Amino acid sequence: MEYIESINPYNGKPLEKYRMFSDSDIKRVLEKAELAFESWKTESVEHRAGLLKKLAKTLMKNKKSYAQLMSKEMGKPINQGIAEVEKCAWACDFYAKNAVGFLSDDLIETEADESFISYDPLGCVLAVMPWNFPFWQVIRFAAPTLTAGNTVILKHASNVPGCALALQELFLMAGYPEGSFQFILADHQQLESIIENSIVQGVTLTGSEKAGRAIAAQAGKNLKKCVMELGGNNACIVWEDADLDKYLDTMVMARMQNTGQSCIAAKRFIVVEAIYDEFLMKFSKRIQTLKSGDPLDKHTDIGVMAREDLAKTLEQQVNDSLEKGAQVKIGNKRNGAYYEPTVLTAVVLGMPAFDEELFGPVAAVIKAKDRKEAVVMAANSKFGLGSMLFTQDIKSARKIIGDIPDGAFFINEMVKSDPRLPFGGTKASGFGRELSMEGILEFVNKKTVYIK
Ligand code: NAP
Repeated sequence: MEYIESINPYNGKPLEKYRMFSDSDIKRVLEKAELAFESWKTESVEHRAGLLKKLAKTLMKNKKSYAQLMSKEMGKPINQGIAEVEKCAWACDFYAKNAVGFLSDDLIETEADESFISYDPLGCVLAVMPWNFPFWQVIRFAAPTLTAGNTVILKHASNVPGCALALQELFLMAGYPEGSFQFILADHQQLESIIENSIVQGVTLTGSEKAGRAIAAQAGKNLKKCVMELGGNNACIVWEDADLDKYLDTMVMARMQNTGQSCIAAKRFIVVEAIYDEFLMKFSKRIQTLKSGDPLDKHTDIGVMAREDLAKTLEQQVNDSLEKGAQVKIGNKRNGAYYEPTVLTAVVLGMPAFDEELFGPVAAVIKAKDRKEAVVMAANSKFGLGSMLFTQDIKSARKIIGDIPDGAFFINEMVKSDPRLPFGGTKASGFGRELSMEGILEFVNKKTVYIK
């Protein structure tokens, strides 16, 4: 029998042991999901949306214990964990209010007596999820997908099994029927056979580009609908007229929230020469005021990274960049899973700090000669999750919207997810959308009905 053990990355101490699911356990889960779907799909959208309100309440009631669990399993500062759970409740409330409207038949006038689009559920959807926002990533997918009438099987990242179990209990506590939301502890090979199984009608992955290529290939081979929410290397463009006094904190947060482990974090700060020195000085100083410490301490801004191996990978990427000519402005010490907030300068194309996703508290500051060059550099990435621009010249900013080939473009704000707005990427950041109406319509059969 195989087990996985969760480990507190802050002190390296083991937390809990969990038994991996055997193939026959997984078969039972799939059958349960199939059975649950038969009755769940017949419930009205009103009923399913009503459960979302209970889900939101249950999240709020338990927000402290869920946040503690995240702090322990993956090092998230406790206040950020509480905010994450509150955001989950917000998404549930949003869909509770809007799901009926999103899923109602869409009448379309034709020569028929009646023609419309009916939004039918697909069946069981497999969700493969990452550890960085262990509650948010799951809820933002599962809340709308279940409300559309599907069932969900969750395969969470291996280092957050406690969160996976807590999520399953959360749905049961909120009154969701047995089998509608189940978690499994499975390895990558088992996932392949789950994707093949005819009970599974779709798969969603939030994770790295590498995992995306593997899972999208398996979904493609089996002709299963899939959504890919993958990595990012977001640019934060700073034009010479940016209001640093007003937005510096936002820019720091854009890089350092969740100890730098966010797909939509600003990773490349592309700063126009005229403001470069001032930006670098103020930005670095502000970062040095962030408090590193115990994730369970409410005063902590920077916890530890989720695993020591992830911190080592980041260190390697930084060292490779330094060898190619990048320089350390501040920080760059690692101790176990802790990585000191770091600012790199002299970063150019061809270095990991420009080309790859740096998934930790390291900001690359890049000099551009003018506004135009900054925009060209920002777009020069294999990823396309989002970009942000800080400027007071909104008129000129509007003119470059079309030059940003990403899933999101935020002006004078950090790229962030919001239940009311679609979220997703282009290029190696994946495809498909979560949140908003777009998200709830990803795993539905948009059925054309024609009555004469
Ligand atoms: P990851 O290593 O790709 O893992 C994500 C999930 O995929 C885990 O459950 C993992 O399982 C599974 N997985 C990995 N490789 C697989 C494979 N070959 N076959 C089947 N399953 C596989 O990513 P992570 O380290 O957890 O998360 C960080 C990445 O997620 C970053 O790149 C980040 O940008 C991205 N992310 C994207 C978004 C978005 O919305 N676009 C949001 C958050 C994070 P195991 O843990 O068992 O390996």
